Amino acid sequence: MIQTDVIIIGAGPCGLFTVFEAGLLKLRCHLIDSLPLPGGQLIEIYPKKPIYDIPGFPIVNAGDLVDNLMKQIEVFKPGFTLGESALTLEENIDGHFIVTTNKGTQHIAPVVIIAGGLGVFEPRKPPIENLEKYEDKGVEYIIRDPEFYKGKRVVISGGGDSALDWTIYLIENNIVSDLSLVHRRTSFRGHLDSVQKVMDMANAKKINLITEAEVVGISGNGKVESVTIKHTTLGDQVKEADHFVPLFGLTPSLGPIADWGLEIEKNAVKVNTFDYSTNRKGIYAVGDINTYPGKLKLILCGFHEGTLAVQSAFAKIHPNKKNVLKYTTVNGVSGF
Ligand SMILES: Cc1cc2nc3c(=O)[nH]c(=O)nc-3n(C[C@H](O)[C@H](O)[C@H](O)COP(=O)(O)OP(=O)(O)OC[C@H]3O[C@@H](n4cnc5c(N)ncnc54)[C@H](O)[C@@H]3O)c2cc1C
Repeated sequence: MIQTDVIIIGAGPCGLFTVFEAGLLKLRCHLIDSLPLPGGQLIEIYPKKPIYDIPGFPIVNAGDLVDNLMKQIEVFKPGFTLGESALTLEENIDGHFIVTTNKGTQHIAPVVIIAGGLGVFEPRKPPIENLEKYEDKGVEYIIRDPEFYKGKRVVISGGGDSALDWTIYLIENNIVSDLSLVHRRTSFRGHLDSVQKVMDMANAKKINLITEAEVVGISGNGKVESVTIKHTTLGDQVKEADHFVPLFGLTPSLGPIADWGLEIEKNAVKVNTFDYSTNRKGIYAVGDINTYPGKLKLILCGFHEGTLAVQSAFAKIHPNKKNVLKYTTVNGVSGF
């Protein structure tokens, strides 16, 4: 059983910054995330995109912001349970919470802060009969590490920013040996700049752009060896490939959090804006997962919410200790 002061469910930007604010109050944190890496949406959806509304950073890449947040909290030595989803939450007779993951890892703490963002991400999958058989055997729904595709023949499906951005990245960085982008329509939903870049790459024969088509079949002995592409007018074409990456987006769902006796409104956890507490004493919700009048799903707002939540958490954990606000410029940041 992992014991800590604060269990944080979700290692997105808001969960990470909450560790920092808790650390200033000498509260130890342990983060749980279903994803194998910290960073939440910033790493999962838009790691290479620039963000322009983080105070003090005129421009910062999402991935770099996560790196900086990780560096900022290093001094407080948070624990991590990654690649596991928080499944159940029980309260013992001392009023402490036990959070158990889908892999059976147990955590206990007097306070839980839910920073679960949009919830658990489920990829939207194309309707291909044997798709699941090839998952992690050449079929991936998320590009986690582009270097994984070094020298490979890759077929990407999709017409949004993800499909366009990864096509550009894999070609511009000379990673793949062959890339086909398959899209059902002739127009794309992504940024105009990205669409233009992809068109230029197709004209320069750096990629095979196959529009008005979709991948309808996968073949291979224990791993992807080829895909069948069905064109609306030209019929079927079999293309040799090592990887098929359908990038049709991720559907968020509250997942297990919805069953923890919390007041839910519009697929989010209702909180009191005094301290971002939920209807269950000792459980707080910060970042995209919460809702209240005037809520904005912005990183900046989540940073503020985490800051106030830990002040209240401190009072629950140390009811007899007085907490006086100290500036980091005066007191510095001392670890545990
Ligand atoms: C394309 C795009 C561009 C954006 N641009 C901006 C911008 O410019 N500026 C800005 O301020 N915001 C922007 N946002 C919004 C911003 O990304 C979110 O506000 C921010 O990510 C919220 O952070 P979070 O920590 O609350 O949640 P998330 O980043 O969603 O992280 C939540 C984490 O919780 C995990 N989780 C959920 N449920 C469980 C569970 N049961 N067990 C374990 N783990 C769980 C998830 O796996 C996830 O990693 C953008 C969003 C998108 C999609």
